[in-house]
Amino acid sequence: MKKKIAVYPGSFDPVTFGHLDIIDRAAKIFDHVIVSVFVHSEKKHMFTVDERAAMLKRALKGRKNVSVDCFEGLLVDYVRKKKTDIVIRGLRAISDLEYEFQIAAVNRTLYSPIETVFFMPRQRYTYLSSSVVRDIAHFNGDVSKLVPPHVAKAIAARRK
Ligand code: ADP
Repeated sequence: MKKKIAVYPGSFDPVTFGHLDIIDRAAKIFDHVIVSVFVHSEKKHMFTVDERAAMLKRALKGRKNVSVDCFEGLLVDYVRKKKTDIVIRGLRAISDLEYEFQIAAVNRTLYSPIETVFFMPRQRYTYLSSSVVRDIAHFNGDVSKLVPPHVAKAIAARRK
């Protein structure tokens, strides 16, 4: 049987427990999940693409059916290159829906076979985003409950 591969795209600047929650849910359903860092040169980021990918790799070590990659350009082109048409996204709250709905609809207009599959994280991560982590880090707050230890360390090192 053909393997069901899914792509989970995002900025992951940096990866949080919310992202990991979504990845674990997706990895239970699909044969392989490719977590892919979107290269967006115009956006200002806390970490480089390579740093973000390295932090993801470390956070996902041991998960056999999950890999980490990077991509530039249109998601639909990337997804086709990866020989799939499944995209994973996370929905925290209704507030995410409008944005996610628009992206999913645009992607489907560009490439009709694409299916965007949404996962909800556990309740305690519904408020969590990379930007919340960056904001807390900016004011030297404690992010240890929000990100894996090596990410918290990288954030602390960035502040020095
Ligand atoms: P963006 O792609 O908007 O830059 P991210 O890279 O942070 O955002 O997130 C990628 C995907 O993961 C998006 O679908 C986003 O809604 C989802 N996501 C981010 N944080 C969480 C969380 N705490 N719970 C569930 N989904 C999340």
